[in-house]
Amino acid sequence: MANWRRLLKTPDIEALRAVADGQAKLEACPLCKDKPDEYAVLEKDDEESEFRGHLQGTGYLKRCPASGAVYFQEHSYEYLAGGSEDEYRFERVTPERARQIVDEWAAELAASPGDKPKA
Ligand SMILES: [Zn+2]
Repeated sequence: MANWRRLLKTPDIEALRAVADGQAKLEACPLCKDKPDEYAVLEKDDEESEFRGHLQGTGYLKRCPASGAVYFQEHSYEYLAGGSEDEYRFERVTPERARQIVDEWAAELAASPGDKPKA
């Protein structure tokens, strides 16, 4: 698992749970249907930006409203001489795994002073 948890400054565990909850039917979404479990998009590519744009969610946890598929989004930025690149990487996880990760995260936050999740 990547260090996406550190990227969330003001995590809202309940909002994350709402995103993680539910079942996925990939065939219900033409954009999710043919994607592998890990998928990277470059910001400047219209077709791939469409994929990023069709997801909803909070922070780095995203959900497709059509298929219910849950993704963790990681964003990386690379400076290149000919123009920089923003890369978004999506890791599709099962709802069970998503809930498990949110639970782990909530436990970590509860154990770390000064960074409590919202009640
Ligand atoms: Zn979708």
